[in-house]
Amino acid sequence: MLEFISHSKVPVWGEMDILVVGAGSAGCLAALAASQQRKYRVMLVERYGFPGGTSTQMLDTFYGFYTPGDSPKKIVGGLPDTIVNELNKTGDIFLRPNTYGAGTGVNYNPERLKLVWDQQIMAAGIQFLLHTTLVDVSLEESGQTSCIFWNKGGFFKVKAKRVIDASGDADFCHLAGFSYEIAGELEPAQSMTTTFRMSHVDLDKYKAAGGNAMLKEKMKTAVERGHPLPRKEGSVHEMCQTGCVSTVAVKVGDLSALKPEELTQAEIEGRKQAFIYERFFRAEIPGYESASIIGLSHQIGVRETRRVYGEVRLSKEDCLAGHMPEDRILLCGAPMEDHRKGKDGEDETAWQYIPGQGVYGVSYGTIVPKNSERSWVVGRCFSATHDAHASCRSMAQTMAMGQAAGLAAALSLEHDTAAAQVDHRLLQDQLLRLGAVLEIPTPLADTRRDGWGSLL
Ligand SMILES: Cc1cc2nc3c(=O)[nH]c(=O)nc-3n(C[C@H](O)[C@H](O)[C@H](O)COP(=O)(O)OP(=O)(O)OC[C@H]3O[C@@H](n4cnc5c(N)ncnc54)[C@H](O)[C@@H]3O)c2cc1C
Repeated sequence: MLEFISHSKVPVWGEMDILVVGAGSAGCLAALAASQQRKYRVMLVERYGFPGGTSTQMLDTFYGFYTPGDSPKKIVGGLPDTIVNELNKTGDIFLRPNTYGAGTGVNYNPERLKLVWDQQIMAAGIQFLLHTTLVDVSLEESGQTSCIFWNKGGFFKVKAKRVIDASGDADFCHLAGFSYEIAGELEPAQSMTTTFRMSHVDLDKYKAAGGNAMLKEKMKTAVERGHPLPRKEGSVHEMCQTGCVSTVAVKVGDLSALKPEELTQAEIEGRKQAFIYERFFRAEIPGYESASIIGLSHQIGVRETRRVYGEVRLSKEDCLAGHMPEDRILLCGAPMEDHRKGKDGEDETAWQYIPGQGVYGVSYGTIVPKNSERSWVVGRCFSATHDAHASCRSMAQTMAMGQAAGLAAALSLEHDTAAAQVDHRLLQDQLLRLGAVLEIPTPLADTRRDGWGSLL
């Protein structure tokens, strides 16, 4: 608890059954799932002016719906599908293979996605508050959790029977006293990335000149001849908007996103790197002669900070063994994708694939903070080791975690049980009714450009 805030003097804004902190892909799904029955008062609070978190702040591709390789299976379903279906209605998606083989991604228009999140949240009757940041937490004698927020109106508190931490940085768990690991403490943390979007790229010319393979080669030779490019690799892909590309290439390491001075430094460095790439692309890459940056990510992309210790901790061994725990709430087939320095000190990215069937299940206990009675933790701060997190942090999986937590919170209210005591069979029944995937499906998914929703 923050000592300078006198909790008794902070006005009460209202009481909620289920409060979700953070409207990223995990938080939006948690709120939508929690309000499925239209039985509980559900509130979703977000510090920025739009929903989506990383999905709309910096990205444009959902990974994790499909397994990688030549026999793709669709392994996430339910409410996450409804988001993609909405985008599909207006022609705002296409499927594309991942440059480095992490499986087919669902490429979307991130600006349209903000609208879709808004519409889904409002249609579900969720109390939605933007530009509002969680700053403190205390436990009330009544058993409710009191969450103190700050916005331009001042400080206020919301009393909630159940809380889902979807803040990405585990702000709620940190303030409520749950234990966690900070990325970088035990193992090197994943680096941060400012993504950027460029317009006026002649993609036909780019492809005719060799496309991504040509780009990789040119970046490599440029670095070797002493060009100030930050690194030799990076992912460039077309967007839904004609002639526009999105680039994930900037790499800022060895700074903590939890320390504001370091995060400031990271933002400045990320922007600097983005414009070095712009200069390089325009000068050296066929098709980019008239291109320019039209948008930097809303903030630098943060891959990991706090990872909460849960009732269960997903480990590298679980992933590599294709472990299917009985109480699984979602499936994942993404490789461990590690963005950090290699042994030779080079800043590149390493992939380690899931062997065998290429899929593992994620236990319900990974979204329940250890010793938690009434809270859950979802998305990039869920309970996993560094390596396991590097596999299970794609947005299809973070949405699936949110879906499970929202249903679990509602179940725990219905049966008056603690988070860890929620009957996983009831939870799985509800997940399956919504369309979640808990067994590896047999049919192959159609991963052609317009194949969303079809099987081969
Ligand atoms: C650079 C980068 C590239 C990536 N590439 C891909 C990709 O191509 N495809 C893919 O599937 N995955 C990708 N990932 C991983 C994936 O995007 C994230 O793991 C996932 O989006 C995390 O979702 P989340 O909901 O847990 O967190 P976030 O999306 O970070 O959402 C957390 C939300 O909580 C809000 N918040 C934070 N603190 C507070 C507070 N105190 N009070 C109120 N609100 C708060 C934030 O503003 C944010 O909206 C990438 C990640 C990064 C950083």
